[in-house]
Amino acid sequence: MIEDFTNMVEKSLNLSEPWYVKGTEFHLEEPAIHIFLDIRKRAKIACPKCGGETKRYGYELHERVWRHGDCMFYPTLVHCRRPKVLCPNCGVQQVNAPFERKDSRFTLMFEGYAMLIMASMPIAKAAKALRCDEKSLTNILNYWVEKAFDERKLDDVKKPCN
Ligand SMILES: [Zn+2]
Repeated sequence: MIEDFTNMVEKSLNLSEPWYVKGTEFHLEEPAIHIFLDIRKRAKIACPKCGGETKRYGYELHERVWRHGDCMFYPTLVHCRRPKVLCPNCGVQQVNAPFERKDSRFTLMFEGYAMLIMASMPIAKAAKALRCDEKSLTNILNYWVEKAFDERKLDDVKKPCN
C-alpha cells in the first residue's frame, strides 16, 4: 500500500504551499484517476502580472480539468478551480496553477512526456501510445517547437564573409 499517495501526487504536479491535494478518486467504470486540488483560503498570492501584493478575489467560475501523466496505466485527470486576485495596479487577475501552460488542457509534465514520445515515433502512433487525439498532440508539438525557435538566440549569427 502506498502510504503517501498524496505526497507523490503533489511532487508529480510540482505543487507546494499554498496549493494542496484535496482528494483523489479512482473511477473503475471510466476507468480514470481524478485528482482534486485547492489553494489555502487565506494564503497571500502575488500578482501574476506585476508580482505585487494582492487581495483574494474568489475563484474562476468553472472548474478546469487537465490531463496528467497516466498513473498505473490509468488516465489521470487533475481538477481545480484556480483563484483570482485583485491587484491595486493590474486589476483582477487569474492565477495559474504551477503545473499548467496557459490555455492547455494538459499538464506541463504530460506535455514534456508527449514531446519525448513524439520524438521517436509518428504522431498517429504517439496518439495511440498516449491515448490522446492527434490534434491535441499536434498543438503541443507546435507550441514547443515555436517556443524553442523564438528563444533561439540569433545575436551571435554573423553574416558570412564574402
Ligand atoms: Zn499587479
